[in-house]
Amino acid sequence: MEVVKEISEVRGFINQSEEQAVGFVPTMGYLHQGHLALIEQAREENELVVLSIFVNPTQFGPDEDYEEYPRDLERDLELARNGGVDLVFMPDADKMYKNNAATKVEVTGLTGKLCGASRAGHFSGVCTVVSKLFNIVNPTRAYFGQKDYQQVLVIKRMVEDLNFDLEIVTVPIVREEDGLAISSRNKYLNQAEREAALVLFDSLQRAKELIDNGERNAKAIGEVLSNKIEAEPLAEIDYVSIVDGNNLEKIDQISGRVLIALAVYIGETRLIDNLVVEV
Ligand code: AMP
Repeated sequence: MEVVKEISEVRGFINQSEEQAVGFVPTMGYLHQGHLALIEQAREENELVVLSIFVNPTQFGPDEDYEEYPRDLERDLELARNGGVDLVFMPDADKMYKNNAATKVEVTGLTGKLCGASRAGHFSGVCTVVSKLFNIVNPTRAYFGQKDYQQVLVIKRMVEDLNFDLEIVTVPIVREEDGLAISSRNKYLNQAEREAALVLFDSLQRAKELIDNGERNAKAIGEVLSNKIEAEPLAEIDYVSIVDGNNLEKIDQISGRVLIALAVYIGETRLIDNLVVEV
């Protein structure tokens, strides 16, 4: 496995790859089973696997956790090596963003909803860095987790609109045994918060039960979800949204591809989770 920091070194590696299929997994590091599922699928579907580890400053708001975001490079490299990664790209922020960088990539519409509504500028930061990474790595396929459902939709839209020549592959959410969606930010939770955090998965399961039992009223399901979360003293809702899974528009009736998405503060930590149902 090669580990490089320079953009030119990635280009050198890719240029020598003789047009083999390249699977690309962009991450912010502090790797866990969710990231490893992306790497595993990329490994199965491509000759070469490139992993990026970059805590991207431009996707964090001024009051968010950029400085504290967990980092453990040595462990990440060991996990990447064991996962069969061929190249790790871990650029320095000042190399990715020159002082005079004046270009941002902005997807409109979709990014005004859900996480985009609570995290101003977040998706612009994501789209800008992902475009740069796509231009540097020039992958055949890029792998993203369904845990960040809106992110996948936004990236797919960007790829279509800007004619990036690659396939976006979505990988299902990887969970802890008790159902909590795995996230680097779970590290912030103390024991009481870790237990409280289960309310995200449990409430999504409750919503699924209601739908399985024939409930089709989105507002009614949303109320059951919200009440269940509000009953947990350590939880505070950022949003509970039941929307069309294709365009994130609010819906009244459960039909077609439906996304139930949550963002909930557990103590100081903002967690997200979601469930897709096809009715
Ligand atoms: P991050 O390092 O948090 O930016 O995540 C990098 C990629 O891993 C993104 O595409 C995430 O959606 C994906 N990811 C993070 N957690 C999970 C998970 N529990 N299951 C599946 N994919 C995940």
